[in-house]
Amino acid sequence: MGDKLFLFLALAGILLVVAGCMIVTNPATKRKDIILIDDAQEVEIGRQVAAKVEKRYQVSRDPKLNSWVKEIGQRLAAVSERKNLEFEFKVLERKEINAFALPGGFIYVNKGLLAMVDDDSELAGVLGHEIGHITARHGIKKLQNQIGYSLLISILFKNNDTTRRIIDTAFTLISLGYSREDEFEADKLSVIYTYKAGYNPEGMVKFLQKLKQMEKREPLEIETFLSTHPPTSERIKRIKEEIARMIGKK
Ligand code: ZN
Repeated sequence: MGDKLFLFLALAGILLVVAGCMIVTNPATKRKDIILIDDAQEVEIGRQVAAKVEKRYQVSRDPKLNSWVKEIGQRLAAVSERKNLEFEFKVLERKEINAFALPGGFIYVNKGLLAMVDDDSELAGVLGHEIGHITARHGIKKLQNQIGYSLLISILFKNNDTTRRIIDTAFTLISLGYSREDEFEADKLSVIYTYKAGYNPEGMVKFLQKLKQMEKREPLEIETFLSTHPPTSERIKRIKEEIARMIGKK
């Protein structure tokens, strides 16, 4: 028995070392995170999930819309804690009011959401929130919790089947959305990034207030957004508190 336990511990130790497991303080959340997936692996996973997304949904060819999103997105990414990542911002030809972030820096905004945006500060609020999911590593941590062990094995043995399964799991996890706490954290980070990049952080409040109005009128149109985010009024309340804190700090 003792021998087996020793063997197991030794093997687990080797796996962790080989996979480059680290405990680091996340600069965005100030929390200690166990990192099994390093930046390069995260980008690779993100890229493969992005390819899946773009196979399923059409990327808009409207140069104006795409450059609008890209310009604001890059300005925000440049003041974030993970500016080393090459962020990509793209518009999808979808009516649903939604935006989402993949690990590694891939961010998508639906055309339906853009139709609701009245100025740069509102779009900055939305994009800052998505960047927040990436800097706080929400997606990659979810994935790590789900497939941590098999991930280590696949990295060690370069198993293609497992890699494919990881990409599928990542895709499903991202469509399921994040926890309430993760959403609030992304909102908080959005306030910080928009403010630092020189946008009015009240833009996110304005955007969410419009969303709240729509919830009553056309609940179906925003179904996906509502199912994956905490109550809008609670988000507005917390964002206002964060703005007050931010401005007070100045
Ligand atoms: Zn979110």
